[in-house]
Amino acid sequence: MKKNALSATPKVLFVTPEIYPLIKTGGLADVSGSLPAALRELGADVRVLVPGYPKVLAGIKNKRLLHIFHDLPETDEARLISAKLPGSGVPLFIIDCPALFQRDGNPYQDPSGTDWPDNARRFALLSRIGAILASDASPLSFRPGIVHCNDWQSGIVPALLHFAPGRKKAASVMTIHNLAFQGIFPAQTLDQVGLPPECFNMEGVEFYGNFSFLKAGLYYAGHITTVSPNYAQEIQKEPLGFGMQGLLAHRSEQLTGIVNGIDTKDWNPAADRHLVQTYDTDNMAGKAANKRALQEKMGLDPDPAIPLLGIISRITHQKGLDLLLKVAPHLLDEPVQIVLLGTGDAALEEGFRKLARAHPGKVAVLIGFDEGLSHLIEAGVDLFLMPSRFEPCGLNQMYSQRYGTPPVVHATGGLSDTVVDVNPRTLADHSATGFVFRHMTAVDLHACVRRALAAYRDHATWRSLQRNGMARDFSWEKSAADYLALYRTVLSAEC
Ligand code: ADP
Repeated sequence: MKKNALSATPKVLFVTPEIYPLIKTGGLADVSGSLPAALRELGADVRVLVPGYPKVLAGIKNKRLLHIFHDLPETDEARLISAKLPGSGVPLFIIDCPALFQRDGNPYQDPSGTDWPDNARRFALLSRIGAILASDASPLSFRPGIVHCNDWQSGIVPALLHFAPGRKKAASVMTIHNLAFQGIFPAQTLDQVGLPPECFNMEGVEFYGNFSFLKAGLYYAGHITTVSPNYAQEIQKEPLGFGMQGLLAHRSEQLTGIVNGIDTKDWNPAADRHLVQTYDTDNMAGKAANKRALQEKMGLDPDPAIPLLGIISRITHQKGLDLLLKVAPHLLDEPVQIVLLGTGDAALEEGFRKLARAHPGKVAVLIGFDEGLSHLIEAGVDLFLMPSRFEPCGLNQMYSQRYGTPPVVHATGGLSDTVVDVNPRTLADHSATGFVFRHMTAVDLHACVRRALAAYRDHATWRSLQRNGMARDFSWEKSAADYLALYRTVLSAEC
């Protein structure tokens, strides 16, 4: 790398298994859809590599065939297509390989919710093409200085680059969006992905006798990031290190927490096309209209005064929804309504359906994924509940603050970094934006929601909370600048 390459704005290949608005199962899609655009606004040449699932291929226009790869370890043939991301126009490279990606279901699971049996091969292909495009074996004229990998699905890119022949290779950054997903496969899988046997040990890709795609990234990447400063600390210890804490603590000098931003155009109550009426801090009448519309749509009693609590989430143990299910019957002793949108664990889903059947008009549960309804919920509810056991960053607590809907959150990960608990001091200095509970117990969650309901009944306190949250800047501007600074540091370390 020549010195003057550093003063120029970096070229970045961003590798991701999902990207909004084409394909989304969670927060990673939101980040992939907005961070590259924010980096491009700062002048970086960022392009995104993503698998060609049916929704991706159907959602793009003006495709152009760039190259056909033959005889890769994962497949005989894969076509590389270029297109633009709808909305922001970020340049995309799409891997068109029908044998691996042209399927119903979501990117990781079949329609019944079972992981695809060939996920190692599918995401090895994503990683392999990422590694090729990041080295001098690339058939393209675009030569990135940085390859930015996201979660286990692109975790082996740094390992493939490490063992690839040739000397011109991009430096790698590995971002952990959720350390609980580690891409663990049997040891024999190593052969299929073309990594040498010598990397199968503790100082490499081996993880308790198996092969972990994520560990490959954490071990071989030039730098590691995660999506909030607090989570960056938590994952260096038990229990949130999920077995990787030793490696992460060892690499703490190359581990940075950068809090996620949100897409402030998409999530803007003053211009949101999914709302029945838009609103802003100075004119909150629209919020009441959305509450009415939401109550009607979900079959809740149309009472404007009753506090309405909302949840939009993967319905899992991580999100603490088992605890909420325990607390909900007690909460419902008071005049409150609950609306939940989500999918996930079948037993928990059934638990919430049962709760709705037991409390008609007071509890509404929609099992499914519905982007439009998620916006209406953020706008229409009074309080947002996010009792996650752990939360690398979390996005909904930021959306809800922006929508004048104070969140109730557990003090963990990015929730601690982005929500300021109400107390006399934070109310006085106008920093309070929500309600935070310390211990992951039913008693603490219940007490915190009751504290929030008491504040809701105090009009001045509530307005102040809403104003503070709506005024906060959750845009990508600062975090994208932090990533850019990090890319420059990584590039200079490579020189
Ligand atoms: P995670 O990525 O762990 O699921 P995040 O809070 O980081 O959690 O991001 C979740 C994203 O997915 C948010 O944009 C949220 O609104 C959205 N989401 C989750 N479940 C649903 C659903 N059932 N319908 C619509 N959007 C959903």
